[in-house]
Amino acid sequence: MSKPTVLIIGGGAAGFFAACLLAEKHSNIKITILEKDKEVLKKVRISGGGRCNVTHSCFEARDLVKFYPRGEKELYAPFLQFQPKDTIEWFSKNDVALKTEADGRMFPITDSSETIIECFMRICKKHHVDIKLSCRVNAVRKMDAKWEVTVSDKTYLSDYLIITAGSSPSIWTILASMGHTIVPAVPSLFTFKVNDKALNGLAGISLPAASIKILGLKHATAGPVLITHWGLSGPAILKMSAWAAVELHELKYEFDIEVNWISQTYDDVLTDIKQIKESDAKKQIGNVVMYKIPHRFWMYLLHTSDIQSTQQWANLTKKQTQDLARNMTKFTLNVKGKSTNKEEFVTAGGVSLKEVNFKNFQSKIQENLYFAGEVLNIDGLTGGFNFQSAWTGAYIISKEISTKL
Ligand SMILES: Cc1cc2nc3c(=O)[nH]c(=O)nc-3n(C[C@H](O)[C@H](O)[C@H](O)COP(=O)(O)OP(=O)(O)OC[C@H]3O[C@@H](n4cnc5c(N)ncnc54)[C@H](O)[C@@H]3O)c2cc1C
Repeated sequence: MSKPTVLIIGGGAAGFFAACLLAEKHSNIKITILEKDKEVLKKVRISGGGRCNVTHSCFEARDLVKFYPRGEKELYAPFLQFQPKDTIEWFSKNDVALKTEADGRMFPITDSSETIIECFMRICKKHHVDIKLSCRVNAVRKMDAKWEVTVSDKTYLSDYLIITAGSSPSIWTILASMGHTIVPAVPSLFTFKVNDKALNGLAGISLPAASIKILGLKHATAGPVLITHWGLSGPAILKMSAWAAVELHELKYEFDIEVNWISQTYDDVLTDIKQIKESDAKKQIGNVVMYKIPHRFWMYLLHTSDIQSTQQWANLTKKQTQDLARNMTKFTLNVKGKSTNKEEFVTAGGVSLKEVNFKNFQSKIQENLYFAGEVLNIDGLTGGFNFQSAWTGAYIISKEISTKL
């Protein structure tokens, strides 16, 4: 009797993890990865600035799902089965130790994505996973109980088909022709372009406790904001780009944001200014910085509020007081365009989650067809959440296929 066969389309994070898990467990199956490029695991290599942010130190499924603008509901039960603790354990078992950074991101202790790649390649080699490079899949069809997958002039037959092709328009087209709904893809995790010479001149300054709103939309995020020479970046901006990914795409990335640089209320700032006017009446405004705002940014806020830095606090007019409080808490900026975040970016959109059974990541339309990773309409915030979703999906698929072998 011939061995059961598993075909994996896409040699990225999810595809390799599924291959490794299945190969470690079953010696009597034939696993083949079909990769369109000359090289596999390209995104893993460049991920996290070359360090690969493998996962995040968030160990409660109910907290973890909050990091997924798309996939929150669907990932809850899967995370109860395979979550960052399991990721850490699996890599540790395979001689890859992970470390946690102050913000919760987890990386290999080598600070090199090559460690992750070597780990996957070692396991695949040991268990004879067949990795086919330069094999772009251009057709998939069901032939009785088998899957028939076509790569230029060659055809592969398999019992189980795992699709881990990431954000692949050609694969989405094939899946649409097989009856799946594809949610249109839009970018997520990008930074905002703001054309304000004075602000752009402050590149490098970070406001650690800012909050942001997009005017006209309901999204609000909080966290550090980094000023760059093209606009704004940092965790609060990246979070916003993810939560509002679809709406911002519809707005063609032209919109107004309101920034509260210090996450204090306007009224509280007015009260604090009143106090400083009494306690530091004779001091120059430029020399008494409020809320530990970086000095150069404080000068910018004074400038935009029409206040001389040499002016004494006692002489601050009512209008200047209100303008300063408003500029600290309700600063409006016009965003015109987006820019790529080099550390991590991802695509929102993909296979509609309504058509996938999240007990086993199997298509509800086609039996023995599975999806994991970015091919699905699931994406997370920056911080290791996108890889975690890929690992979890691959784990559950491998578990499900194992029960059928
Ligand atoms: C610069 C950058 C940095 C990132 N850093 C991080 C990070 O540090 N942490 C994190 O959690 N996430 C990070 N991400 C996101 C993360 O890389 C993805 O979410 C993850 O790689 C998705 O895994 P995947 O297996 O679904 O898809 P991919 O890793 O994209 O793999 C899909 C594979 O399928 C292949 N393929 C596509 N079409 C076909 C076809 N027709 N036939 C055959 N093969 C095909 C592709 O060539 C590719 O190799 C980063 C992304 C980028 C772009």
